[in-house]
Amino acid sequence: MLVTGGAGFIGSHVCAALLREGHEVLCVDNFFTGTRENIYHLLDDHRFELLRHDVTFPLYVEADEIYNFACPASPVHYQSDPVQTTKTSVHGAINLLGLAKRTQARILQASTSEVYGDPEVHPQPEDYCGRVDPCSIRACYDEGKRCAETLFFDYNRQYQVQIKVARIFNTYGPHMHPNDGRVVSNFIMQALRDESISVYGDGGQSRSFCYVDDLVEGLTQLMASEPSVTGPINLGNPSEVTVLELAELIIDLTGSRSAIRHFPLPVADPRRRQPVIQRARAELSWEPRTGLKEGLERTIAYFELLEREGFGSR
Ligand code: NAD
Ligand code: UDP
Repeated sequence: MLVTGGAGFIGSHVCAALLREGHEVLCVDNFFTGTRENIYHLLDDHRFELLRHDVTFPLYVEADEIYNFACPASPVHYQSDPVQTTKTSVHGAINLLGLAKRTQARILQASTSEVYGDPEVHPQPEDYCGRVDPCSIRACYDEGKRCAETLFFDYNRQYQVQIKVARIFNTYGPHMHPNDGRVVSNFIMQALRDESISVYGDGGQSRSFCYVDDLVEGLTQLMASEPSVTGPINLGNPSEVTVLELAELIIDLTGSRSAIRHFPLPVADPRRRQPVIQRARAELSWEPRTGLKEGLERTIAYFELLEREGFGSR
């Protein structure tokens, strides 16, 4: 099993799940946003191998299945080097699809709800084509992922490569980087330090948060599905909350003395996001099981340990 972006948040959980299932895992990462600490606990397993490599360059290895997670996912990081972000999605897809074609491997793409942009259709089903501004500062990520989907479907139609395209909605859990800039990690770190909670805009914008263990189950089930199941398929938790509600829940769960402080809303911040998951239910019998409170409690416990003992503690 080849896992690109395997040292990142989601990729590291997928590497661990595949090892638990008895597979040999090759983790490929350039450590742009991923860390060695995320995979530290896997290094002693003789079936686990780590390769430092940037997927924008060709890769010659053997694989039966490829999970492509390589790409920074936090707006702060993907906007810090936007040209590299687009290259990672597009050149990365071309290189890995070429590898899948040569080795006849199945390949799964970690696509995103960002392909729907700032949606006029709510909640978002897979047949909604989205509303993305190709010139906005989010486009390096959104359009890169959209082009990667195009490449996946063209490699499938033109070369019969077995593809699986998952559109992942906001996911959270242990192994998120504490300085990654995403809302869940920001709010928990701020709450644990009794610092102000940085709500952007009025906090009325919504997201639907999925706990990482649920997502990983969906991803491995998608990879194992019949060849006719190519996706795109939404994977996410349909329970929607506003950013302000999330801030209040995190303050409550951490028992923090933090106060909420409002900052300007980032440019092109989508107003609402919620997945329709009928397709995942029907084709994978998949359903997220972890409620937001339970998932946040586990995530808070992880960040508390990091605060106390540092990165090496995991
Ligand atoms: P992450 O930033 O923690 O992980 C991305 C990993 O890819 C990191 O380890 C990073 O070092 C690596 N990477 C980046 N550029 C690379 C390159 N050119 N070559 C090799 N490795 C490279 O983010 P994540 O949340 O784990 O996201 C993983 C994937 O899932 C991404 O493709 C992301 O777009 C997608 N996704 C995530 C979410 C979410 O909420 N977490 C939502 C939708 C989609
Ligand atoms: N957000 C916020 N405070 C933060 C970080 C993010 O209010 O410290 C908001 C952000 O404006 C967005 C939502 O939380 O509306 C989710 O942001 P994130 O960066 O986690 O993911 P994305 O925007 O890609 O869904």
